[in-house]
Amino acid sequence: MAKNTPTQYCSFCGRPKKEVKVLIQGLDAWICDECINQAMGILKDEIYAHMTDEETPSQDFSTIKKPTEIKAFLDQWVIGQDTAKRTMAVAVYNHYKRLNQGRKEEVEIEKSNMIMVGPTGTGKTLLARTIARMLDVPFTIVDATVLTEAGYVGEDVENILTRLLQAADYDVKKAERGIVFIDEIDKIARKSDNPSITRDVSGEGVQQAMLKLLEGAVVNVPPKGGRKHPDQKFVEINTRNILFIAGGAFDGIERKISQRLNKQTVGYSAINKGVISMDNIMQYVSPQDLKSYGLIPELIGRLPLITHLEPLDAPALKRILTEPRNAIIKQYTRLFEMDGIELKIDGKALDYIVEKAIEFKIGARGLRSLCEAVLADAMYSLPENPPKTFRVTRRYAAEKLSRYAISQEQ
Ligand code: ADP
Repeated sequence: MAKNTPTQYCSFCGRPKKEVKVLIQGLDAWICDECINQAMGILKDEIYAHMTDEETPSQDFSTIKKPTEIKAFLDQWVIGQDTAKRTMAVAVYNHYKRLNQGRKEEVEIEKSNMIMVGPTGTGKTLLARTIARMLDVPFTIVDATVLTEAGYVGEDVENILTRLLQAADYDVKKAERGIVFIDEIDKIARKSDNPSITRDVSGEGVQQAMLKLLEGAVVNVPPKGGRKHPDQKFVEINTRNILFIAGGAFDGIERKISQRLNKQTVGYSAINKGVISMDNIMQYVSPQDLKSYGLIPELIGRLPLITHLEPLDAPALKRILTEPRNAIIKQYTRLFEMDGIELKIDGKALDYIVEKAIEFKIGARGLRSLCEAVLADAMYSLPENPPKTFRVTRRYAAEKLSRYAISQEQ
């Protein structure tokens, strides 16, 4: 390698060698790692811009992780929920097989959009977010409850794609390979199992409007969203390769499931015979149950993979505190470490925090605010004169949470 002389500057951005990671020498010029990256981006955009849809290369299939590897990745961030993880791993794997398939092949593999059924705060959004992180594709979360049919107060369904486009920094090609998580899909269920005679703009109407998006179509998307900018030019987005993952708590669906299971087994109730476990009836959720709940069959058909998430029990909540890659306790440990303090939280203190999360019915989502309440005083006063270690006992946690408990009561 050439000697480090003062002439070693990137010929593109002018940065000296010591300010960059790598500086590569050409005949009369140098280029740094950042400029190479930038140039690669420009190159890709230029090449893709002149390609038809068919020519655009899909992700190299050999680089796509296998389902077991995808699950192992999810395991690093999400605790438990094995069934949902396995379903998702296969869905994503097949999605990429599909993207790799040329358009002219005889057997066209259909999209593997997915629906997750499970209590709130059990990791549905986290799973979808984590998979998007793994794939490094644009990701957006939309709340189904704010959507309405075009022409009514609320957001048009097309705005889902506006969000995705924004998440992709307005790169249409990137957005067309993104993932959309539609939260609270159960809230747009129609009110009765029978098709409505009158129009139901916030339920069935929205479901109808969503069909086009889910199955794959070219949709005109207002890049700025909403109806506030009537002059904006629409952008065409093809949803063919966008993966849609819907999630909902579907409160009370257990009743529909058990009714169906009972009906199916007239004269020989599998439930009564103990063949079917009533402990977690959600595991038997099927398209029929979603239909009884009020999703229209066409929508269910476009979300062909159904999976369920389990409620989180105390051991799972404790694991959530400490095990995921960015577990809450790991984050606090790092924060204390930055002040030179070693944070030690007793297992019993963690148990106490978990007990409170269950008692206040705030589940995994509440763990963070409970930890904050336990550690807030220490984070305020310790940096002034930092001790070597700071230990949190069950007693200390209880004392700090007594105030929190009062604020939760009423
Ligand atoms: P949902 O979408 O099912 O309502 P979320 O995925 O938004 O729930 O979960 C809320 C928060 O709770 C997450 O951001 C995460 O911190 C935590 N959490 C929930 N479930 C899990 C889990 N299975 N593993 C790890 N953390 C979880």
